[in-house]
Amino acid sequence: MFKRVMAAALLAVVLISPPAMAQPAQAQAQAQAPLQLWRLDCGEFVIKQYGAFFSDTFQYPAGPKDIVGSCYLIRHGDRYMLWDTGLTDALVGNPIENAAQRLSLRRSIIDQLRELNVRPEQIEYIGISHWHFDHTGQAARFPQARLLIGRSDLEHLRDWGPGVNDAAVAAMSHWLTGGGQVEPLDGDKDVFGDGRVVMLDLPGHTPGHNALLVRLASGPVLLTGDLYHFTEQVANRGVPPFNHDRADTLASMDRFDRIARNLGARVIIQHEPADIARLPAFPEAAQ
Ligand SMILES: [Zn+2]
Repeated sequence: MFKRVMAAALLAVVLISPPAMAQPAQAQAQAQAPLQLWRLDCGEFVIKQYGAFFSDTFQYPAGPKDIVGSCYLIRHGDRYMLWDTGLTDALVGNPIENAAQRLSLRRSIIDQLRELNVRPEQIEYIGISHWHFDHTGQAARFPQARLLIGRSDLEHLRDWGPGVNDAAVAAMSHWLTGGGQVEPLDGDKDVFGDGRVVMLDLPGHTPGHNALLVRLASGPVLLTGDLYHFTEQVANRGVPPFNHDRADTLASMDRFDRIARNLGARVIIQHEPADIARLPAFPEAAQ
């Protein structure tokens, strides 16, 4: 009996071996597609009451705080993805200010892509970390792109009637009304199928919030979305009062930090001014 089991096991090894050996060669071929990452300028913000805005535990002092908006361009071989689409480009030359904040934008995404000789129609995917207006503002400039978004965020946008978050609904209406291709995500999403660009399902800030892992040849990079807004939040777990779910936020912070530690990843907080320097200055790319 033991011999028969051993023979069966050996046969199984022989039968399994050829496809198992084929996989590394395939993975190697895919791994040769160049992978590059650019940080794009997607806005500047002055949050006038920083403490009240970003912590539900009185963690931060009163007064203003400057943060930035960041989008990212990813090139995978000859394919392109945008990660987040920033504030609306109507703000270029027309900053707005109200009691809560001041918003401004120096350059549109299209203007920055032009400098890289990338045409808007070359953008195959738009990955959205979450539905908020400062991450969806310029999406409509890329109507041919396939939208990757957490299903719960998509449903929120679809469910809202007029008068609720109009700016974000307007920015995404092309995809909400069936005009554009959309892929609602229920978990992590391996965008190009080789494990090197992966949207990570990290709910809490919004119900369908995602971060992005980009495994560059120089090492893995993690783009936070708005899981964190600035550096000190990582250590002191500041949770903004407007987050969708506090417990989910803390669980997502835990998962994200473990991924960062296990991979030795370079973490980039998208709204943190100091983290702009963690990638080469535009128009240079990380690779
Ligand atoms: Zn944001």
